[in-house]
Parts: sequence; C-alpha cells; structure tokens
Amino acid sequence: MLEKDYIKEYLQKTFCYKCGTSLGSAKLETIAEAPVALIAHAVCPKCQAESMVTITSAGGGASPMLSDLNVTEFKKFMGVKSVTHDELLDLHKVLKRKSLWSLLVKKEKSLEKKQKI
Ligand SMILES: [Zn+2]
Repeated sequence: MLEKDYIKEYLQKTFCYKCGTSLGSAKLETIAEAPVALIAHAVCPKCQAESMVTITSAGGGASPMLSDLNVTEFKKFMGVKSVTHDELLDLHKVLKRKSLWSLLVKKEKSLEKKQKI
C-alpha cells in the first residue's frame, strides 16, 4: 500500500487541469487501492473541477473526469476496494492512460520476478 505521506506529497505536486491550483488540499475520494497504485477522485479546492488522480509507487498522473461515470458508478464498476490486476487492466481501458498503466504493469512484473528468485 502506498504511504499516506507519499500520496499527500504527490498531490501537492499535482495541479488542477483547469486552473492550475495544487491539489494538495483537494477533496480526495479513493476509488480503488492496489499494493502499488491508488486511484482517486479529486475536486479542485479553487474551481471545483473534477479530476481522476492515479498514483503509483513509480509516479502518477491526473486527468480530467472525461468519463461519464461518477464516483459512485466508478466504485460500483470496481466492485471492491482492493482490486485485482485484471480489474486494474479493465480500468485502464476506461481511463485510457496507456503510458502510466504500462509503467504500472512493468513495475508489477519486475516485482513478481523478484519474488520468484
Ligand atoms: Zn481548479
């Protein structure tokens, strides 16, 4: 699980896509958590623009809420709080954040390798 301090630090370096305000004090609602990733819904403290924030141990990104899904629907879509790798891949299709998610998959694969040795 990602450390709270890491998440907070990351959010402070993430900026609203609309007005450029730091999301450090944004209202954050966790949608899904995995050992190496966190997906959350953030509301800009200044202009109330909604963003999807994805944070991984290797970095992350924020993208505007372009999906028609709202937070509740997203949670329903994810089903459970801790998600499997397959579910993350499904979400990947929704978010269409290829670069970030390929990074995440790469990271997971390297972790698996280490565990086998
Ligand atoms: Zn904003």
